[in-house]
Amino acid sequence: MGIPFDVNALNQLRADLLARRLRLDHEMAGREREQGELESIDTQAEMVDLAQNLELIERNVSLQEQERRELASIDLALAKLGSGTYGACEDCGEAIPVRRLQIVPEARLCARCQSVSERERSRSRVAG
Ligand SMILES: [Zn+2]
Repeated sequence: MGIPFDVNALNQLRADLLARRLRLDHEMAGREREQGELESIDTQAEMVDLAQNLELIERNVSLQEQERRELASIDLALAKLGSGTYGACEDCGEAIPVRRLQIVPEARLCARCQSVSERERSRSRVAG
């Protein structure tokens, strides 16, 4: 199968994804370095510094998680581009509009299914 996309639009989306992937790679490498420095800080440091450090480390960890997730969805989108399944909604199989992909190139769901899944997620959050 495959969604009949405009080749130019598809190439542009692929370029966007690759550029973002590269930037993420850089950011993650930099953050890892920073994290190493933060963790190796002298334990004799003032309590205030330690508390501040801990805060930075925690923030870094959550950013890293976010970046890892983003990287994973970019990789998935690139894999789909390679196999020709890119741009199809994973839920209903409908083609995701190019306009939406241009804003969110790694989108896996069409806008309708996305809002349904977000509603379900927020419901299960309340329940759990
Ligand atoms: Zn859908």
